[in-house]
Amino acid sequence: MRLVLLGPPGAGKGTQAKVLSNNLKIPHISTGDIFRETRDSGTELGDNLADYMKKGLLVPDEIVNQIVAQRLQKDDIKDSGFILDGYPRTRQQAAVLDESLEKDGIRLDTVIYMKTSNETILLRLTGRRVCKRCGRIFHVKNIPPKQEGICDFCGGELYQREDDTRETVLKRLEVYNDQTRELIDYYDQKHMLNTVSGDMEVRKLYDVLYELFGKEGLL
Ligand code: ADP
Ligand code: ZN
Repeated sequence: MRLVLLGPPGAGKGTQAKVLSNNLKIPHISTGDIFRETRDSGTELGDNLADYMKKGLLVPDEIVNQIVAQRLQKDDIKDSGFILDGYPRTRQQAAVLDESLEKDGIRLDTVIYMKTSNETILLRLTGRRVCKRCGRIFHVKNIPPKQEGICDFCGGELYQREDDTRETVLKRLEVYNDQTRELIDYYDQKHMLNTVSGDMEVRKLYDVLYELFGKEGLL
């Protein structure tokens, strides 16, 4: 299955992508995860990315497109498809993706738009905590770890992403509204869009998605 998850920061794209990827055995491509890894790699490119990310700004299209294009060339993608999470995020990125798929004679199966209220987004992101070691996600109120600051699964230390402060979340929402929101219309016009509510609980939304994929003959 070739899938794009679209929606504002905090919609739960990464969370659903991880579960779908695990259960359906489809590679998960998160540009956010790739960039965080590169940012921490101590390279010049990493320092360059850090500047954009801590301000909540988008990384320039050329860098993003190149990184994704490389990833899409790998064999696992040819065999199983992909779940794109956080890409495309601009019209230019969407056009580049379309072109590269077309060149290979394939197309996206569906685009899921996870429509989410601003209230949910702010609550989720400002309370989100991530495990330094295994990357699992907690929330101070909604999914608290058994012991404060410690991962239930691996005992790693939990931290707050530097772009999850209230101020930067508001900036990310502004950037989303300015540059990414228009992709909803872009995919809707191509009759590829399926809208679901990102306000639902993780498990419930997963069930909704699973049913939807079944109906579309994608499972
Ligand atoms: P979010 O929760 O905002 O969706 P991500 O983890 O997907 O966060 O991305 C974190 C940061 O990485 C973004 O704020 C942005 O700086 C950068 N980034 C991720 N994906 C893209 C993309 N497709 N285009 C440009 N920048 C991106
Ligand atoms: Zn952990």
